[in-house]
Amino acid sequence: MDDNNPLKRATPVPLHSSQVPSQPRAQVRSIPDYCQFLSTLRTDLEDHIKSTASTVEHNNIMPRPSLSELIARNRVYEPSHTPFPTFAEIKASGTPGPRVLVVTCADPRCEPYQFLNIAPFDAIAIRCIGGRVEPQIPGILAVDTLFNFEEIAVIHHTDCGATMFTKQDVSRVIKTRAPARADEIDKLEFGDFKDLAGSVKDDLKILRGNPYLSKQLREHAHGYVFDIKTGEVFNVEV
Ligand SMILES: [Zn+2]
Repeated sequence: MDDNNPLKRATPVPLHSSQVPSQPRAQVRSIPDYCQFLSTLRTDLEDHIKSTASTVEHNNIMPRPSLSELIARNRVYEPSHTPFPTFAEIKASGTPGPRVLVVTCADPRCEPYQFLNIAPFDAIAIRCIGGRVEPQIPGILAVDTLFNFEEIAVIHHTDCGATMFTKQDVSRVIKTRAPARADEIDKLEFGDFKDLAGSVKDDLKILRGNPYLSKQLREHAHGYVFDIKTGEVFNVEV
């Protein structure tokens, strides 16, 4: 399969940036132009990935590229990259920051920029295992000092991997690596859950009861479930 991979056939490119031939770069564009550019780029990349995947046998839906293959994909992407605006450039443009913060799962089937059709600067998503909020609270508090979000959404999804392991499963494995720390390991949480709507409700309670979170976000925390088969996002009420 590798011999048919166009990325692997490409001339190897040195990793060090000073060794990479300079490419003509586009000027920083206006934010609407930039959004349009990213939309077009996403389509181009999706087409590229589909054409690459066409060499993979039909029953192999996960080609499992190595890290070096992924870095090779970057060499394909990089020449067409349009520079992102910096914080200073965004501020100078007068563009207000995003209103909504989304916390959702890192699962590639649960892609909020896709299923919520989020364009750059529309919203920011924090993605983690299960989309559980508690381990993300420090990050949520930190990023909120930059943007003063007005709403926060917790979005878990069907068939989530976090429903397929238990705290006991994970603890058992890591205790074999650090048996002397068993008591410490017993106190760790790994974000596992069994009740999908229940996990969203639990996370909403955590957000609404967190004294460090802004009053605005505590009062505008909302919960949802994303169905990976239908694409629908369902509201979950506490
Ligand atoms: Zn998940």
